[in-house]
Amino acid sequence: MTLGKLQRPQTLLLVNIAQLLTLRSNAAGPRRGKELQQLGIVEQGSVLCVGGKIVSVGPTKDALRDPWIRKNRRNIVEIDCAGKVVLPGFVDSHTHPAFVGPRLVDFEKRIEGASYQQIAAAGGGIRSSLEEVRQATKSELIAKILNALRDMAAHGSTTVEAKSGYGLTVESEMRSLEAIREAADLWPGTVVPTLLGAHVVPKEFEGCSQKYVETVCSEMVPRAARRKLAQFVDVFCDKGAFTPRETEQIFEAARTHGLSLRAHMGQLSETALGPFLRLHPASFDHLDHVSDADVSQLAQHETVATLVPGANYFLGLKEYPNARRLIDAGVAVALATDYNPGTSPTVSMAMAMSLACTQMKMSPAEAISAATINGAWALRLAERKGSIEPGKDADSAVFAVKDYREIPYWFGANLCAITVLNGAIASSN
Ligand SMILES: [Zn+2]
Repeated sequence: MTLGKLQRPQTLLLVNIAQLLTLRSNAAGPRRGKELQQLGIVEQGSVLCVGGKIVSVGPTKDALRDPWIRKNRRNIVEIDCAGKVVLPGFVDSHTHPAFVGPRLVDFEKRIEGASYQQIAAAGGGIRSSLEEVRQATKSELIAKILNALRDMAAHGSTTVEAKSGYGLTVESEMRSLEAIREAADLWPGTVVPTLLGAHVVPKEFEGCSQKYVETVCSEMVPRAARRKLAQFVDVFCDKGAFTPRETEQIFEAARTHGLSLRAHMGQLSETALGPFLRLHPASFDHLDHVSDADVSQLAQHETVATLVPGANYFLGLKEYPNARRLIDAGVAVALATDYNPGTSPTVSMAMAMSLACTQMKMSPAEAISAATINGAWALRLAERKGSIEPGKDADSAVFAVKDYREIPYWFGANLCAITVLNGAIASSN
């Protein structure tokens, strides 16, 4: 993927698109139930982007007759998408890119049969990434994050949520967030930064997690907010991480400082969601374990259930989150990669979609809605992202397939040919 001169949006005309998935809809909120099936497909479609925004969408023959396009044709970069599918750029609403190296020891240990908790107890897991991040310079972190963002763009992602969470000291969490911001400035797509100071209780605070929670609430959250380094605060609420009470404390601190909320919930064990819903979190992520009562409650809220099947796949689990139960109950479901070195080292939203189809019985259309417009809702960016409609940001992915169902079908292959990020082109050839 080339990334020269990308920062400036171009005047772009995508034409002859075999299937243009606009994802347009009259739905007032995130897509639920049958709405997830509606991709708003235009055959032989076209998209005009000017100044980083989508200006018009429709059949190619109409675009070619348009007087403005005819008059300005010489200054328009035209992309022939014959035989290809164009869809909104993926919104990867859950990633952990602020790390240094892969966790190959964990990988091998797990293959030998060690559990998540056993690996953590043996000094592996999240804690083993901490030392590297604490010692890394900011420029090392920037390089790692930027590399990941470029890989993500090469796989069709144009909006990426990026969490800190591998430093877990005030200083290293702020450095991770600064690195996320500086990498984002060098990338043409859109990055949504999240403070995940409450990823795990670091060793120094073992046995006195409350003290660490106070550090998160009284130092990390206010600093991240004051310096505008984060839009969201995330908490890993689960056994072995933070309790519901601690999570509420951190959420209250985030709200006090004007930051929005999201949480890792129900990955390893069930936590009652009711007490948190009143705080209007944007998203609960994982939800492998969730009660019927909470599923009904979630269906009444705009809080998105973000499913990350890459983690289940990589951990070798037989069980996946029950997407059918959530969707059929009316919960707004999104898909994300959970890109991280321990449990989901993939940048591929197409892979997450393939797993959603084969392991969670989501249809290809549902998987696409979950990976685009509902991801945008999960980041509170649906006004700008997640569908190809006039007025929205010029984000799209061109796939070298004739039918959108091929995107999750050819698993493990990257069939994304061109990515448009805020009107700037990145292409793999
Ligand atoms: Zn995660």
